[in-house]
Amino acid sequence: MPTRKSAQKTTTKKTAKKAVVTETKAAPSAAEVAEMKAAVLRHLNYTQARDEGTATARDWQLATSMAVRDRVLDRMIKTQEIHNDANARRLYYLSLEYLMGRLLISTLHNAGVYAATRQALDELGVDWEQVRRAEDDMGLGNGGLGRLAACFLDSLATLDLPAIGYGINYEFGLFRQAFDENGNQIEHPDSWMIYGTPWEFMHPEYQQEVQIYGHVENVFDDQGNYRPIWKCSHTLVGVPHDIPIPGYGTETVNILRLWTSRATEPLDLNAFNDGGYVEAVRAKATSETVSKVLYPNDKTENGKELRLVQQYFFVACSLKDIIRRHERIEGNGWHNFADKVAVQLNDTHPAIAVAELLRILVDEESMPWDDAWSIVTKTFAYTNHTLLPEALEKWSVPLFSRVLPRHLQLIYEVNRRHLEEVAAKWPGDNGMLQLCSLVEENGGKQLRMANLAVVGSHAVNGVAALHTELLKKDLFPYFNSLYPGKFRNKTNGITPRRWLVDCNPRLSALITETLGHEDWPRNLDLLQDLGKYADDAAFQKKFMDIKRANKVDLAKLIKELCDVEVSPDALFDVQIKRLHEYKRQHLNLLHIVALYRRLLQNPDLDVAPRVFLFAAKAAPGYDLAKNIIRAINVIGNRINNDERVKGKLKVVFLPNYRVSLAERIIPAADLSEQISTAGKEASGTGNMKLALNGALTIGTLDGANVEIKEEVGDDNIFIFGMTVDEVEALRASGYNPWDVYHADEELRAVLEWIDSDYFVPGEHHAFGPLYHSLLNGGDPFMALADFRAYSDAQAQVDLAYKDPQRWAKMAILNTARVGKFSSDRTIREYAEDIWNLPAVPTK
Ligand SMILES: *Cc1c(COP(=O)(O)O)cnc(C)c1O
Repeated sequence: MPTRKSAQKTTTKKTAKKAVVTETKAAPSAAEVAEMKAAVLRHLNYTQARDEGTATARDWQLATSMAVRDRVLDRMIKTQEIHNDANARRLYYLSLEYLMGRLLISTLHNAGVYAATRQALDELGVDWEQVRRAEDDMGLGNGGLGRLAACFLDSLATLDLPAIGYGINYEFGLFRQAFDENGNQIEHPDSWMIYGTPWEFMHPEYQQEVQIYGHVENVFDDQGNYRPIWKCSHTLVGVPHDIPIPGYGTETVNILRLWTSRATEPLDLNAFNDGGYVEAVRAKATSETVSKVLYPNDKTENGKELRLVQQYFFVACSLKDIIRRHERIEGNGWHNFADKVAVQLNDTHPAIAVAELLRILVDEESMPWDDAWSIVTKTFAYTNHTLLPEALEKWSVPLFSRVLPRHLQLIYEVNRRHLEEVAAKWPGDNGMLQLCSLVEENGGKQLRMANLAVVGSHAVNGVAALHTELLKKDLFPYFNSLYPGKFRNKTNGITPRRWLVDCNPRLSALITETLGHEDWPRNLDLLQDLGKYADDAAFQKKFMDIKRANKVDLAKLIKELCDVEVSPDALFDVQIKRLHEYKRQHLNLLHIVALYRRLLQNPDLDVAPRVFLFAAKAAPGYDLAKNIIRAINVIGNRINNDERVKGKLKVVFLPNYRVSLAERIIPAADLSEQISTAGKEASGTGNMKLALNGALTIGTLDGANVEIKEEVGDDNIFIFGMTVDEVEALRASGYNPWDVYHADEELRAVLEWIDSDYFVPGEHHAFGPLYHSLLNGGDPFMALADFRAYSDAQAQVDLAYKDPQRWAKMAILNTARVGKFSSDRTIREYAEDIWNLPAVPTK
C-alpha cells in the first residue's frame, strides 16, 4: 500500500456493514490477495530485512502481522478522531490483567482480511500452520478474570462503544509451565516480548509521572484551612504502549493502553560520579521493576509491597491520562467529568483509584469534599469476581501508609463519614460498624479494598446470577440494605469471534453454510436456528465429523507434546482451568483412579474408551495444587502404560495451559468438566467456550453452570452433587470426610491406593499432601462428599456417549442454545445498566 488512504480501503468503506462480514466467507478478490501479498513482502523486506529465501516462520508471522496492522491503524486513528470530535462518553476499563493470547488470527478476522491473507500466504508458498504457531501468546493474566477483560475489549469494539482498556505492560507474563521427569511443575519466565511485538506502539509523548512513598506534612493555609501536603520521595514514569483492538464487522478500532515503568532519570548521576556505576544502574532497575512481572497468584492475594506499587502505578497513570484526554476538549471540566467518563474496576485490584481520584479533587483541585465524593461515586463501578475469603484483597495499614500515606488519610476520612451513615441506619449496632468498616481491626489493622470499592462506586456487580445472589446474601448483606439497588448481575460471556470463528473454522463453516448467512458471530442468538437440525441424521453426521477431525488434530498435538497415543474415537473428557482446590481437579482424579480400578478388576467392563485431558497451571507457591498436578501426571503415566486397560483409559496433562492451547483443545472436547464446589466458582467462562463448541457439561449447580443448564435444557447437561444450600447445611452440621470414607468402600480403596507407594515405587506418601487434605485436613471443598454423585453422573455420560445419535443431538443443542453467553450480550447489559454508554458509529 503506497498511500494510507488507498482506493481499496475506500471500496471497503462504501460497501458498509455486511460486506465486511462476508469478506471472510466469499473468496477474496484477486486484487485484495495481490495487495496483501505485496504488503507482506514489503514488510518482509523492509521491516524484517529478509528475502523470501531466508525468511523464517517468525519473519513471515511478523511481516503478516505488520501488513494487517497497517490497515487496522488507519481505522484506529479515524475512530479516535470520531470519538474526540463527538466529545463522546467513554468507558475506561481498569484491569491488572489482560489474557489476550495471540493477536494475528483474531485481527485478520476482525479486520475482514483473513481469507485474502491466507490465500496470499498460500500463493507465496508459506506454511500457514507454522506462521500461526510462531506467535507468542500475550499472556498478561492468570485465568478467567484476565480472559474476561480480553473478551470484553473485543465486544466493546464490535458494538462500536467508545472504550479504552488500561493495564500494565508486563515484561514477563504468566510463567511458562513444564514438567520434570517426576511429573512436577517447573516454572520458566515468560519473556514474551524479548524480541519485540508487532502489536504495541510506544507513545512517549503521553508518558505520565507518578509520585509515591514519602510522608504527609500537616499544613494550614492563610485562612486556617487544613491543607496537608504529600511530600513524595519517589517518582515513577509510566510510558504508554497502545494495542489496537479492532471490532468484528465494523470499522471501530479501540485501544488497549498498557503502562511500562521507567526511571525518571536514566541514571542517578551522583552515584555515577562517585564511581558507583553499578549502584546507579541498580536504582534505575528498581524503578523499572514495577512493570517487570505479573504476579502468578490466581485468587490468592499475598499483600506484597510491589503488588501495591503496581496497582497504584497503573491506576495513577491511567487517571492522569483520562483527565488529560477530558481536559483537552474545550468546554470540558470537572462539571461534566462524570458525564464523559465511566470507569469500571475489574475486581478490587484497581480499587485504589477511588482514593486517587478523591485525592486529585480534594488536594490538587481544592474541591469541597462532598462535591469531590459525588464525582468519584458517579465515575466508578466495581465488578466482584469472587467470594473466597482468601481472595479478598486487604492491605496492612503500616505497609499502605509507607507507600501511600496521603491515601491512607483520605480512606480514613471516607470511612469516618461512611460509618456515620451506618450508625444512622443501625443505631447502637457496633457489630454492624465493624462489618461495614473499610478497616479491619482484629489482628493487625488492614484496609478492606472490596469495602472501599463498594462504598466508592455507584454500581457493584457479580458475574453470574447465583454469584450475585450470594454476593447480596452472604458477602455483603449489610451493604445491600445500606445501598438498595446498587448490586446488580452481569453474567459473564465470551467472544464468539475467538472462541468459535477463529478457533473452530470447520464448525464455523458448517454453521454459516447451514444458516445461509454470516451474521451469527455478531448475533449469537441466531445459532438457535441450528436446533432445527438436531435430529437430522445428515446434519448430525456433519457436526460429529467435524468434532472428530478436531480430535484428530488434537491427538497429533498430544503425541507431539506428551508422547501419548490417543484414539480420536474415545470420549475426550477435558478439565482445563487454573489448578485450584475449589475447582476440584482432585475429584476428577479420584474418579479416574476408581475407573482404573474397576477396569483392572473387570477387564471386560463395558465402558466407552475415554481420554481424560487436563491442562492447568498452579500458583508457584501453592504446594497442594502442585502435588495434585504431580499426582495426575504420575498416575496418568502409570495408567497409560498399563496394557491391562486395553487402551480404554488414557490420562493426559498438556503442559503450559494458555489461550492458544485452549483454542486447540476446546474444538475437540466432548465433555466439559465444571465440577467446582457449589458456591465457589463465581461464573466460569471455560464452561461457555466448551458448550459453544459442542461439548456437553458435567457440572455442579455453580456459577454460570446454572444458567447454561437453563439454556440448554436439563436433558442436555449432566448436573450432579450438592447445591449451595446443601453445602452450607453439611458444613453447619459438621462435615467429617472420614464419615464418607468409612461409608464408601470404593472411595476408601481409591484413597488408600493413592496413598500407597503403588504409583511411585520407593517413595513413601508421594501424594501425602493430597491424601491429608481430603481426610485429616477436613476436605475443605467437599470432594469426598460429592464423589459418589459425580461417579454416578459419569456413568450417565458413558451411557449417553455409547448412543451416538443421542450424543450428537445433545452436542448440537449445546452449540445452538448458548447464544446468551456471547460477551456482546454482557457488554450490552453493562452499557445500558451501568455505564449509560451510547454507541458511536464509525462509518
Ligand atoms: C477461559 C480461560 C480461563 C477460565 O477458565 P475457567 O474454566 O472459567 O476457570 C482460564 N485460562 C484460559 C487460558 C482461558 O482461556
